[in-house]
Amino acid sequence: MLDVQNIRKDFPILNRTVNGKPLIYFDNAATSQTPQQVIDVIVDYYTNYNANIHRGVHSLSQEATDAYEQARIKIQKHFNAKHPHEIIYTSGTTHSINLVANGFSSLLKKGDEIIVSALEHHSNIVPWQMLCERTGASLKVIPMNENGELMLSAFDALLNDNTKLVFVNHISNALGTINPIEYIIDEAHKVNAAVLVDGAQSCPHIKPDVQALDVDFYVCSAHKLCGPTGVGMLYGKEEWLNKLPPYQGGGEMIAEVSFEKTTYAALPHKFEAGTPNICGGIAFGAAIDYMNAIGFDNIAQYEHELLEYGTEQLQKIDGLKIYGTAKEKTSVISFNVGNIHPYDIGTILDKMGIAVRTGHHCAQPIMDFYNIPGTVRASFMFYNTKEEIDSFISALKKAIMMLS
Ligand SMILES: *Cc1c(COP(=O)(O)O)cnc(C)c1O
Repeated sequence: MLDVQNIRKDFPILNRTVNGKPLIYFDNAATSQTPQQVIDVIVDYYTNYNANIHRGVHSLSQEATDAYEQARIKIQKHFNAKHPHEIIYTSGTTHSINLVANGFSSLLKKGDEIIVSALEHHSNIVPWQMLCERTGASLKVIPMNENGELMLSAFDALLNDNTKLVFVNHISNALGTINPIEYIIDEAHKVNAAVLVDGAQSCPHIKPDVQALDVDFYVCSAHKLCGPTGVGMLYGKEEWLNKLPPYQGGGEMIAEVSFEKTTYAALPHKFEAGTPNICGGIAFGAAIDYMNAIGFDNIAQYEHELLEYGTEQLQKIDGLKIYGTAKEKTSVISFNVGNIHPYDIGTILDKMGIAVRTGHHCAQPIMDFYNIPGTVRASFMFYNTKEEIDSFISALKKAIMMLS
């Protein structure tokens, strides 16, 4: 079992106050908080061995290179990728998706089809639209139902021999729905389409096995799983990464450069132009160690309790409607109360020290589906507690009284 009181001691930020009240942080789906163990790794890097990697013969450079490459192996093991060079460091999910979308520019032609889901984050919609504009391919959308679940029979009907790519998130950041990616991957492979799974929202809660899933690309950001911002990863099957052209040109990604011809470096360096976020990569590895020490089974079980408790308490409030009631979901609750604007609720909650997200959550198509401008979203991590949910519920009731 998970010892939440002890875990909370790892997160110095949870001790602070906001507007004179103890902070209650329920905006974890936007970014998670950072434990001292990860902060220490960042401080240690800049205190003791900050240097550029891969190029230096001096000791500092070698220490930094070793730590950075060790972290890549940690990430590889965590996701059960076959090779370390199938893990490409990026600045995060958005960068990873753009890298793949750009690479496919040379592989697609007019008449080809790309499928996305109705539940996507803008960062898993816009790069594909741009790809379609460049190539003449067309974009199809898997529709969702009222509960916020994808309609799989409609997905089956969209698949055909022209389908080249399918993009779907593992878990929706706006609604918390866990999508049946196993099914989607299997069906897509039957027509030889590649599948990219956006794991930004799943990696904080579950441990994906990319080989068991047989997924072609899997992407995530470190900052949603207790790591720093500005670093993330792209997992790609070796054969796919070899097929895609480089994304950015520069140092590190070349084998030989002359003005006549440049040849590219082998994986993973082909996709890692320029000086990367070295400290971020090392800290990403530390964040994965931290989460694994707590244990993803413990995390999933505890967060499910928080989800059920929070849902139960919220449902008791008159006029409150929860969006996203999928059977399979993680600890994200999106809701509105009557006609009160989500922004007004968020502002009053902040006065009481409670951080929630309000708005469209970078998923405007979902808001359009429900015909609403946005929602209030409370998202829980393993360091949150039922007591915090109780305080949130009473603060929310006060906010509703003030606003109606
Ligand atoms: C947060 C998020 C993203 C974007 O991640 P960045 O770290 O901002 O690049 C993409 N997709 C989903 C589902 C997300 O939750």
